[in-house]
Amino acid sequence: MIKKISYLGLGTMGSGMASNLLKAGYKLTVWNRSAEKCVPFARKGARVADTPADAVRDVDLVMYSLSNDEAVEQVIFSGEGILSGIKEGQIAIDMSTVLPATSLREQEAYAKRGVDFLDAPVFGSKQESAEAKLWIMAAGSKAIFEKVRPVLAHLGQTVHYFGKNGNAAAMKLVGNLIVALEMEALAEGLVLAQKAGLDLNTVMEVVKVADFRSPLLVSNGQNILKRDFSTNFALKFMLKDAGLIEKFAKSLESPIPALRVVEKNLASAVDLGSGTENASALIKALEKEAGVEVKARAGI
Ligand code: NAP
Repeated sequence: MIKKISYLGLGTMGSGMASNLLKAGYKLTVWNRSAEKCVPFARKGARVADTPADAVRDVDLVMYSLSNDEAVEQVIFSGEGILSGIKEGQIAIDMSTVLPATSLREQEAYAKRGVDFLDAPVFGSKQESAEAKLWIMAAGSKAIFEKVRPVLAHLGQTVHYFGKNGNAAAMKLVGNLIVALEMEALAEGLVLAQKAGLDLNTVMEVVKVADFRSPLLVSNGQNILKRDFSTNFALKFMLKDAGLIEKFAKSLESPIPALRVVEKNLASAVDLGSGTENASALIKALEKEAGVEVKARAGI
């Protein structure tokens, strides 16, 4: 049974997950590149490690959520990285959004040390992570998946098993392709509605109930109308993920014409200074082109 866990990467997503592991009663070790993010966890009884290699000492399970493929590369393979400390019999889970090829590289490197590995990226954002409501996908050995399933159940509302390593990472990119296109559809639709002189609150009332409704369209649409671009999922991360989807789709010769359009708009929004705002700020690229600002009329 898993009792001792280390969590590496206490950013927007990792901090929520690490908090929920503490709440669930696991003995927790934490590590973060910027050490100050470990302080609240130390106060709640977690051990703070100096390096990734130190973090994995004497635990059953190592979990991490890091920005991108480069960060994963650094934290695992560098001099004081996870691989230099991890031992046979331990389990590692990567919860970051990375290329399936990166997951496979991780799996191979861990296997050489007798370590089992799952790729287990997530859907959901800051709030879902904090409230243990993530939608988790996992891939790797079924037996190991069953062993860690109770841990994952403390972090998410659903956990889907996807078979061999790399498949969960692939599903994450499939989902993010759909998210990116939904975000573009919302932005194009709202700009057109504004240009047509429609009442935008009524537009959103329809988006809420019609057969094309989705929670993502509703929450982002309402925030756009309030000009609230506070970050749940940073625009720069959506652009990063678009790059991953492009590479992955290219490797499989799968067409992604619409994603290329979204990627261009995301890059324009970054140029406008919106990289650290929420991904919905991609609408600013379209607003600039259209010469409008999408905003609910006051008093409605
Ligand atoms: P974040 O808040 O920016 O946190 C990123 C984490 O990675 C931080 O702990 C950061 O350390 C660490 N890091 C970055 N580069 C590093 C390096 N070179 N070496 C060591 N550590 C490094 O990101 P996040 O939103 O939590 O996202 C984490 C992962 O989850 C990403 O792969 C993202 O695509 C994915 N994801 C995010 C969301 C979302 O809504 N935010 C949703 C689903 C999936 P510092 O604190 O020192 O910078």
